[in-house]
Amino acid sequence: MTNIKNRYSLIIVGAGPAGLTASIYASRYKLGHLIIGEDLGGLAFEAHKICNFPTEKEILGMKIIEKMQKHVESLDAPLIIDKVINIVQKNKVFEITTQKGKIFLADALLLATGTIHRRLNLPNESKFLGKGISYCATCDAMFHQNKTVAVIGGGNSANTASLYLAEIAKKIYQIYRKNKLRGETEWANQVINNKKIDVIYNTKVIGLKGKEKLEKIVLTSPHQKAKEIAIDSLFIEIGTVPQKILTEQLSLTTNKNHFIEVNSSQKTSRNGVWAAGDITTASNNFHQIITACSEGAIAAESIFKFFQEKNK
Ligand code: NDP
Repeated sequence: MTNIKNRYSLIIVGAGPAGLTASIYASRYKLGHLIIGEDLGGLAFEAHKICNFPTEKEILGMKIIEKMQKHVESLDAPLIIDKVINIVQKNKVFEITTQKGKIFLADALLLATGTIHRRLNLPNESKFLGKGISYCATCDAMFHQNKTVAVIGGGNSANTASLYLAEIAKKIYQIYRKNKLRGETEWANQVINNKKIDVIYNTKVIGLKGKEKLEKIVLTSPHQKAKEIAIDSLFIEIGTVPQKILTEQLSLTTNKNHFIEVNSSQKTSRNGVWAAGDITTASNNFHQIITACSEGAIAAESIFKFFQEKNK
């Protein structure tokens, strides 16, 4: 298998659960490979509590990623933290350029670049980022001892963010545009039963106000006048969108929301390119750590078979 200087049989782009699991499998298949990730763990690293990963009754996102990283490293797979900014294919070989100016070559490519936080796209949202607006409760909750905060969303991210904040802050408004929280019923029930959390249903945030930092949010709900509430911080937990730059560079087929279409072997529409994890349409669009790991494993096995065929 290829592993000469900067050339590898396989390059895995993305170091979240899908990429790390693919690496574990690739190592055991003795596939010469490299993992390049912009950050370690992706969004899973930010999860406060994970309670549904077999063998882990309750674990921090960063802890489960640390365990995966140790497993990867124990198999001697090289992992570099850098951002892949460009991929071109020349004579069946992929040329991968990173932000730090490194160039790597690969015969096969696995995209496991996951998703990024969805933004509300309100005026002032960027201005108040880090000044009262956060997309990561796990990262920033500790600064909110006895504060009043708001969380937007009604899925698992919003529910777990509110529950984590309830351990630290004084009061949490969870603002949701529909009338019944979704995500895991267990988390939703804990939110509803938590005395510090006030869920405001059928309501949208339409304005962000403040001078140097966010001070107030403007809420609107049907048949009512818009109203303002004063808060110390706002946590925007309204889901994620796929990273699409590399997908576009490689002209991969995606669905209308830019998730990469893959077959049951995690192969994309382009020969030599596989995709795994939250960025794909696989696993019934059920974006979980365990499904990302599963897709990474399937992709690695499929890539192994690809090389077996090629080398016959
Ligand atoms: P989801 O897509 O599941 O939920 C997004 C929420 O934000 C929905 O309630 C949605 O409303 C709302 N929303 C979307 N866009 C807007 C908008 N523009 N304005 C206001 N509200 C909006 O994303 P999550 O991030 O919650 O979860 C993503 C994945 O990660 C899921 O698979 C989840 O299970 C997983 N996860 C698991 C966790 C764990 O187990 N510890 C923790 C966090 C996430 P609506 O309902 O109307 O569509």
